[in-house]
Amino acid sequence: MINWSCIDTVLLDMDGTLLDLHFDNYFWTEHLPRTYAARHQLSKEESHAKLFGEGSAEQGTLQWYSLDHWSQRLDMDIPALKRELQHMISARPFAIEFLTRLHDSHREVVMVTNAHRKTLEIKMNTIDITPWFDRVVVSHDLLAPKEEQRFWHELQKLHPFDPARTLLIDDTEQVLASAQQYGIAHLLTLLQPDSNRQKRIDTRFRGIHHFDEIMPDGPQT
Ligand SMILES: [Mg+2]
Repeated sequence: MINWSCIDTVLLDMDGTLLDLHFDNYFWTEHLPRTYAARHQLSKEESHAKLFGEGSAEQGTLQWYSLDHWSQRLDMDIPALKRELQHMISARPFAIEFLTRLHDSHREVVMVTNAHRKTLEIKMNTIDITPWFDRVVVSHDLLAPKEEQRFWHELQKLHPFDPARTLLIDDTEQVLASAQQYGIAHLLTLLQPDSNRQKRIDTRFRGIHHFDEIMPDGPQT
């Protein structure tokens, strides 16, 4: 599925790619609406509508991913609420082994995430995968989410890569489409980013279930 001899740089998303998206889905669809409902004496449905009804136009923007924005908008300490669920943060199957093999292969390995720094911090407090990376790039620092072309241009300046010899693995279709538009040649999605949800069958990009399907061989020659 992947011809590793054609790849020098591997860009990896965090949530739903290396880490199980169950944590994030559970937080945003269960934990936060329930906590918000209790505080404002709303039903869970009312709470959900209030939280995501009017603001959903922001989806895919930096604001949407910003915990500060959500904390301010809801007048709640969102990082603290996330920490309550810290025990639910987990790596996806074979993710650590895949990172170890990539590291041993001496390819450039860069994390590219839309997650807010505070989210990254909470996750890395539980499972620190940062040592496996040559660089960790948070889109907030580049002032554009991965869905925008600007992100890839800024990334290129920060950490030069050859798009024709780069692989991006990401579970978000709009992100893969954006990377494709920029010219990144090798793109893969995840067929089951959330271990508690159904597998996806309608993905536009080629997908894997687990990283064992694409393990690189030993050290690059
Ligand atoms: Mg993701």
